[in-house]
Amino acid sequence: MPSPLASPATTEDPSFAELLAQRPQLTAHAQDGLCLEDVPLARIAAEVGTPTWVYSAGTLRRRFRALRDALAAAGLNSTIHYAMKANDNLAVAGLLAKEGAGADVVSEGELRAALAAGIPGNRIVFSGVGKTAAEIRLALEHDIFQLNAESAEEVETIAALAEGMGRRAPVAIRVNPDVDARTHAKITTGKAENKFGVAIADAAALYARMAALPGIRPIGIAVHIGSQITEGLSAYRVAYTKVADLVRELRARGLPVERVDGGGGLGIPYRDEIAPLPEALAGALAAGLGPLGLPVMIEPGRWIAGPAGVLLSRVVLHKRGATRRFAVLDAGMNDLMRPALYDAWHGLVPVAPHQFHAPLSPAEVVGPVCETGDTFARGRHLPELAPGDVMAFLDAGAYGAAMSSTYNARPLAAEVLVDGHRWAVVRSRQPVEDLLARQSVPDWLLG
Ligand SMILES: *Cc1c(COP(=O)(O)O)cnc(C)c1O
Repeated sequence: MPSPLASPATTEDPSFAELLAQRPQLTAHAQDGLCLEDVPLARIAAEVGTPTWVYSAGTLRRRFRALRDALAAAGLNSTIHYAMKANDNLAVAGLLAKEGAGADVVSEGELRAALAAGIPGNRIVFSGVGKTAAEIRLALEHDIFQLNAESAEEVETIAALAEGMGRRAPVAIRVNPDVDARTHAKITTGKAENKFGVAIADAAALYARMAALPGIRPIGIAVHIGSQITEGLSAYRVAYTKVADLVRELRARGLPVERVDGGGGLGIPYRDEIAPLPEALAGALAAGLGPLGLPVMIEPGRWIAGPAGVLLSRVVLHKRGATRRFAVLDAGMNDLMRPALYDAWHGLVPVAPHQFHAPLSPAEVVGPVCETGDTFARGRHLPELAPGDVMAFLDAGAYGAAMSSTYNARPLAAEVLVDGHRWAVVRSRQPVEDLLARQSVPDWLLG
């Protein structure tokens, strides 16, 4: 079975009009060209330069509220903990904080970012397979809502650290339910062979052990089966049923369970995938976990932030190779890594109005980085392109800027937030000097 992220070569790509029709935050204006909300993207490219990430505040709010409302409509007492790793920009997290979101963090940096964005510790879940002692201490100092422990070894570490601080750490066990979320192999996390979580068969004994440790307050069970889940709602159902059975077993043993954490992973359509709606996820949660009568948490990242962002990039040059034409952009795999890492397909739309209706022909769309993997699209139907033309990669709001690197000594791109007709730079472009500023050459080499 092909990866749902790969583009099947047999069917035609969606047209520009079809891509925009599915994305109400983006419109094509006869004069202003491609607009995100009420702001022409050409204006941002002109004033901020390229490459630049641009996020739609309205889309972030709309999607957060859609999830919240779907959970409420399914009768769940629930909280949403936005997965910071999808997009940890302070403006994005701060906007979601104002909507009432908690956070799911996986490092000290993300914990500090969530706190700086105005999300208090008592709304933050700390996940991750390798939390350091310093990170666990920091989390406890900030009265973390929940630590998701991923192993028996980690439980002992947390217990010792918390006891040393005179605290009881609120710990949930992340179980590995051994289900296949049927997503890309690099982002499936709930199979027995993956590094994540405690085998579900071992979870009850570990939970009992936690209840006996003075440094630990056993909170509940967490599960996260993968990311960009589109066809795998049945995987969610299986996972939630296994978690519910486990909770019943814990209760039968007289162990306290305060809440359950259903994780993240809800997928979005990048090309033409049929992605489940929040109502479907809420239905799976309600069916599996609802009967427990406990508060339910979820940890979505991509579903909230992905469609809210675009990456603006300029054509550096247009090159005719022996058999193909290449559009070389000023964004590279160091900026948007998903195509190189996951064979991901991103919509790519010209920003200038006259290019919407120009004749199309196949082009290879590549970045400037010295790797063949620095290819964004193959055989993509695009208009004739010239240096300076601005293009927008769609659905780049999640795992875009957050995954960027400075490979090839390319500084991190700027980030902009659009809100109606207003917009602001929310991370300035990294100056090249920054790349050199922290480096030094030892004296003896120069002597
Ligand atoms: C990555 C991750 C998430 C968010 O995944 P999305 O696919 O972006 O929703 C949630 N929880 C955990 C534990 C994760 O590792």
